[in-house]
Amino acid sequence: MAVRHDLPAWMSESVLADLDENPPAWLLQSRANRRSSKRPVWVQLTCDVCGLTADARPKKWWPEFTYLSCSDHDIWDLPEPADGLTREEFDGIGGQFIGVVDR
Ligand SMILES: [Zn+2]
Repeated sequence: MAVRHDLPAWMSESVLADLDENPPAWLLQSRANRRSSKRPVWVQLTCDVCGLTADARPKKWWPEFTYLSCSDHDIWDLPEPADGLTREEFDGIGGQFIGVVDR
C-alpha cells in the first residue's frame, strides 16, 4: 500500500504554482464569482442642475437616465429635450433625485 503522506513537497508546490499561473476555467470562474458577490454594486448619482452627488444602489427598473435632478429643483432647470424626443420623469431615484429620460 502506498503511504498517502509521502508526496514530496516540491511536487505539490510546483503544482500549486502552476495552477496559479495558468488557472483553469473553473478556477477563474469561481474567483470571479467570489469577487462580484462580495462587492455590492453602487452608482454615484449626480444632479445635473447643482452638482450634488449621492451614492445609491441601482434598482432593476431604472432606465438609462439622460439627466438627474434633485427633487426640489424645477424640472425646467434642465436643458430642453432634443428635437423629436419626449421626456419622461421618474420620481424617487436614490431617495432624493428625479431621473429624466429623453427618448
Ligand atoms: Zn440639485
